[in-house]
Amino acid sequence: MDKVIIITGGSRGIGAATALLAARQGYRICINYHADDQAAQRVLAQVRELGAEAIAVRADASVEDEVISLFQRVDHELGPVTALVNNAGTIGQQSRVEEMSEFRLLKVMKTNVVGPMLCAKHALMRMSTRNGGKGGAIVNVSSVAARLGSPNEYVDYAASKGALDTFTLGLAKEVAGEGVRVNGVRPGYIFTDFHALSGDPDRVRKLEPGIPMGRGGQAQEVAEAILWLLSDKASYSTGSFLDLGGGR
Ligand code: NAP
Repeated sequence: MDKVIIITGGSRGIGAATALLAARQGYRICINYHADDQAAQRVLAQVRELGAEAIAVRADASVEDEVISLFQRVDHELGPVTALVNNAGTIGQQSRVEEMSEFRLLKVMKTNVVGPMLCAKHALMRMSTRNGGKGGAIVNVSSVAARLGSPNEYVDYAASKGALDTFTLGLAKEVAGEGVRVNGVRPGYIFTDFHALSGDPDRVRKLEPGIPMGRGGQAQEVAEAILWLLSDKASYSTGSFLDLGGGR
């Protein structure tokens, strides 16, 4: 089967590393992104250099009209999607719950929970044998925060990833008999620009001493787990989670 992957938030960090690894593994690739055209074009050029057929599509992965257009472009330009990585995510400034605005809470939940649900919906409309598809695999990028709760920092973010994990479990069972596997990865502290959003760009370096393995993780180390879960090597895995937290 031809392998066609959609990576939401594929232009930077973990998503970009996933796109590069997917290129080496023979996927046709859609790099979705939200705002940073230059970053998307850079990753697009890199995956094409590796020989992959690829497109970059700007779309807010948490807005259904934009998700519909994204999937339609993939249908027309790359063929039916076989793999979805729900990677796009956001986080607010470190703070206590009393200080969190309604705007922030809605944004975190919409981006981290509703977006992956919408993208999964439109992937299943194409992948599920129930809908005439040939099957496929979905990986949701969660966080160890779902287990730890992130008190005094961002319990809203941790709760959004907890919701994403429950969605992974339920959806995996819902579509297990329809040729679609659904799994999750839970990264710990990974060196990406994500931490600037929470107000501390050097966060991973500062917290390294408290990580059992004594170091932060690299985006490629998460990408390896994502690509494994998507591959036929993980053919009996669904509703499962791989933690990539260096022991946290
Ligand atoms: P990152 O380097 O900040 O990259 C985020 C990516 O998501 C960018 O490509 C960004 O595109 C895109 N994006 C954000 N909102 C979007 C939206 N609404 N629609 C489409 N794309 C959107 O982040 P990262 O560290 O790679 O994080 C990726 C995922 O891993 C997130 O779900 C995050 O929660 C999770 N995670 C990260 C860590 C960590 O330590 N880094 C740990 C645990 C979990 P633009 O640049 O165009 O906005």
